[in-house]
Amino acid sequence: MDSRHFAQARRGATLHLVPDAGKESAGKESAGVDETPGSRSFKRYPLWRVLGLNGLTVAHYLVGCGAILIAYRSYPILGWPIGLAYFVFAVVQLYVLTPLVVCPGCVYRTVRGGRCASGLNLISARLCSPSPGAMGFEERSHGVICESSLCLWSLVLPVPLALPGLALSFSWLALALMVAVAVLTVIRLAVVVRRATCPHCLARRWCPVVRAGQSA
Ligand code: SF4
Repeated sequence: MDSRHFAQARRGATLHLVPDAGKESAGKESAGVDETPGSRSFKRYPLWRVLGLNGLTVAHYLVGCGAILIAYRSYPILGWPIGLAYFVFAVVQLYVLTPLVVCPGCVYRTVRGGRCASGLNLISARLCSPSPGAMGFEERSHGVICESSLCLWSLVLPVPLALPGLALSFSWLALALMVAVAVLTVIRLAVVVRRATCPHCLARRWCPVVRAGQSA
């Protein structure tokens, strides 16, 4: 995100993304909705959407961890370290790393009362200051270990991690959980992100992930 965007985002209304404070009716959830024609951006995502997305995310991580543990049930000395390492990686990359390295440069950190789809701007606000020099949306999607890649890895990693355990001692339950991880990943990427989160995000006009999806 460049500094020009940061300055514009701070003003909000200039971008025609954020409703004027005077138009907001205090205390109402609808106050966070930009009703600009052709756009329906959430300055403040409804709480049920935020809780639903985070519930889905944590459930995904738990199912993935469970798949690994059960796949290695005959070799717990392998299964527990791998399963727990996966879970810690998934949680830390999303709830610590993202708020520290990506969110500080996001428009949601500059909008008063804003709440993004995942609510991570609120965590970020407790961890660090907003920064126009923070990793922007461009960097977020570049490289194998960029934040977007880490986020994707956190969704799919349980499958390759559990496969060796499944080969060592087959388990229908472990296989079912691995299939569940794959299905959850597809649902998340094809339905939840594309329809429920990105289309309403204030940052979508700058987000390279959204742009890539539109040009794909
Ligand atoms: S929209 Fe993304 S980058 Fe912006 S605050 Fe939320 S999680 Fe962070």
